[in-house]
Amino acid sequence: MCIFSQNLHVEVTNFQTEVTMQSFRLGSIFGFEIRVDLSWFLIFFLILWTLTTGVFPGNYPGLTNATYIAMGVVGTLLFFVSLLAHELSHSLLARAKGIPVEGITLFIFGGVSRTRMEAETPGDEFQIAGIGPLTSLAIALLCGFLWWVGRNVGWAVAVNGVTAYLATINLMLAIFNILPGFPLDGGRVFRAIAWKITGNYKKATRIATIGGKLLGYAIIALGLLQLFGGFVINGLWLIFIGWFLASAAEASYQDLLIRSTLEGVPARELMTPYPETVTPNLSLQQLVDEYFMHRRYHGFPVAEGDRVVGIITLNRVKDIPREQWAYQTVRETMRPIEDGVSVRPEEKMSNVLQKMEESQLRRVLVTKNGSLQGIITAGDIARWLQRRRDIGEEMA
Ligand SMILES: [Zn+2]
Repeated sequence: MCIFSQNLHVEVTNFQTEVTMQSFRLGSIFGFEIRVDLSWFLIFFLILWTLTTGVFPGNYPGLTNATYIAMGVVGTLLFFVSLLAHELSHSLLARAKGIPVEGITLFIFGGVSRTRMEAETPGDEFQIAGIGPLTSLAIALLCGFLWWVGRNVGWAVAVNGVTAYLATINLMLAIFNILPGFPLDGGRVFRAIAWKITGNYKKATRIATIGGKLLGYAIIALGLLQLFGGFVINGLWLIFIGWFLASAAEASYQDLLIRSTLEGVPARELMTPYPETVTPNLSLQQLVDEYFMHRRYHGFPVAEGDRVVGIITLNRVKDIPREQWAYQTVRETMRPIEDGVSVRPEEKMSNVLQKMEESQLRRVLVTKNGSLQGIITAGDIARWLQRRRDIGEEMA
């Protein structure tokens, strides 16, 4: 499953709390950074537990507990590898189409490829979305073939059990992902087709979003039926998945709306003009005591006289060991202005958003000829959108 869009919506709504996905780095493959969301550990143990105590003992009775545990661990790890292969196929094809991919985050239901932009043509989107389920299907066929060989050649029951499981789970992944529920892969394929027919990206997304919500509600209904039929765990799972899908569809659409609303708006219209600045010679201790502890801001522009030289954020300070705060200065810690943390007042918000994401600061400085004009944070964007919505409602 894959929702390879930005998390702007989430970012904008969480602007006060500076929440990022709780994930950590696992390594990198083909130049893509692989991260694992903390929610994945929950899933990992749930799958491990289900396989070890339910699926394998049920299907292959008479083996030792140690064998079931070994089958469970290998099965869960290879399931994880299958998910990764699915996401890698999206990422590799996206990169081949000229879409920059930062990396892959595996989370509760699968993964997301973190891309900086969306496909530019319906054809590209069709292929990038479609290759994921095809990859899962290919893995399912491969595992099915191995299972068939194992049965005929007489491999151990434990081995055949794992290949059978992997064939089944990957087939389920392929089928689930080809359902036309945006933002699942199938929903993206569906959107690409609607996009090709209507020639309108936004309209196509709207249509696909409705598909995603309907599918989400259908899965919830199925979950309720199961729940009342006595299959409590299955029912709860389906309700959870359906709810997740319906809200992901809505969030993706909101994300697109926000982006298209902001697209052509110049930076100066959203910025908070002339924000408070700090000087580069402050120690971090002074900065914390005199600024961060007394203001609600998470970052300050750093200015030397009339010239802005950088930006310092609370996150940056938190990365420095506390005992060094008395000696280390703001200048030594800040992100310098040359580091792509500033935009011109007339710069379009579409570029500004990209810069905010690339710099990972969630804020940019607005400068003109080296002097500070303003600052744009996720909070400024959220407030601007809210104001626009309020005005729109009053005028309607
Ligand atoms: Zn996918």
